[in-house]
Amino acid sequence: MDFRWDKNFAKELDSSDELRAYREDFIFPQHDGNNCVYFTGNSLGLQPKGAKAALQQELDDWGKYGVEGHFEAKNPWFSYHEMFADPLSKIVGAKPSEVVAMNGLTTNLHLMMVSFYRPTKERFKIICEGKAFPSDQYALETQVIHHGLNPNEVLVELDPRKGEHTIRTEDVVATIKEVGDELALVMIGGVNYYTGQVFDMKTITKAGQEQGAYVGWDLAHGAGNIPLELHEWNVDFACWCSYKYLNSGPGSISGVFVNERHCNNPDLPRFAGWWGHDKETRFLMEKGFNPIRSAESWQLSNAPVLAMAVHKVAIDLHSKIGMKALRKKSLKLTSYLEFCIQQVSDRHPNATFEIITPSNPNERGAQLSILVHGKGKQLFDYLTKNGVIADWREPNVIRIAPVPIYNSFEDCYRFSEVLNSAVES
Ligand SMILES: *Cc1c(COP(=O)(O)O)cnc(C)c1O
Repeated sequence: MDFRWDKNFAKELDSSDELRAYREDFIFPQHDGNNCVYFTGNSLGLQPKGAKAALQQELDDWGKYGVEGHFEAKNPWFSYHEMFADPLSKIVGAKPSEVVAMNGLTTNLHLMMVSFYRPTKERFKIICEGKAFPSDQYALETQVIHHGLNPNEVLVELDPRKGEHTIRTEDVVATIKEVGDELALVMIGGVNYYTGQVFDMKTITKAGQEQGAYVGWDLAHGAGNIPLELHEWNVDFACWCSYKYLNSGPGSISGVFVNERHCNNPDLPRFAGWWGHDKETRFLMEKGFNPIRSAESWQLSNAPVLAMAVHKVAIDLHSKIGMKALRKKSLKLTSYLEFCIQQVSDRHPNATFEIITPSNPNERGAQLSILVHGKGKQLFDYLTKNGVIADWREPNVIRIAPVPIYNSFEDCYRFSEVLNSAVES
């Protein structure tokens, strides 16, 4: 499609956008009496307007029933988490029994590594990203130390080639082959948080498993952003958070995928709690852990219902739309934003910024990372002062995410307008 860099054209795109009404379901931070250009849904998604009422419902039921709310509440707390199995399975491409909503993301990464990183003398190495998200780095490093090993001898980091910004699939596969028999685990962010690069999860999963390793994905930036087929790709495990593209509120509940062949293996070691135990006998409080034959068996505690109430509102919205329609809009929205930024760049040949996110739509989701040479922070501060909420990453990257569930084509245009005046000033 031929794009044009003008406001009316952006408005035309909005009026033919089938998802435009969903914008009204979210609360936007304000700037000078108008909605901000909110491009940080990759960090914290906006609040769905229904969140307050959903929270109130649980508070009311708690007040009304006390402990009886476990069974008497409108959405009984005892089985609250079960409401997420079906919708989450559709978001990540899994069977309902393979997913569960629980804990925080980093907690879940640890729980998954307890099961899927069990080093032996021969097989102990982990392939991960160089410059992985800090929490993932710390989780990996301390798991290794926990097993009495040295992170420098265990962690094999993947980096872009010199002069490139993203990691080539062929290089990942080559590294996997090189590590070979020593490879215990591959754990990578499915969408890189810094560059927005989407990895070829199918190919990498297959390559890792061919060497006899487990392959897991951190989908913090993937869930609710890009199409996923975790079951189809035969992924061993995956974890994500719900407060980025899934709009479930700060620090809200994480999600986990465990392949059904592992769910059906009660002998697979794990750290357990009562909520992972067979439901029929859970309250007999007997000795001996008997895991539910689903991803639920990795649950430790009973569900944090207050956080989950907001998660439910957000997930219901996503379910109403479906990943297919969301991705369709996302492709167009990101392309239009890229086009608008290109227009600014073309008009100012001396302006020193470049988009380091892959230009191939199959290798990115709803994020563009702009590498700014020179006065990057100044440029970023100008954007902030003029009603754009974006994200600054040291040393010199501005991350922006046009999120299809609530951002508009006009937001993209407005962003480029402010960027243009920033460059001119
Ligand atoms: C956002 C993010 C996290 C955050 O972890 P929490 O445990 O939810 O605080 C971890 N890893 C990646 C890759 C992320 O993008």
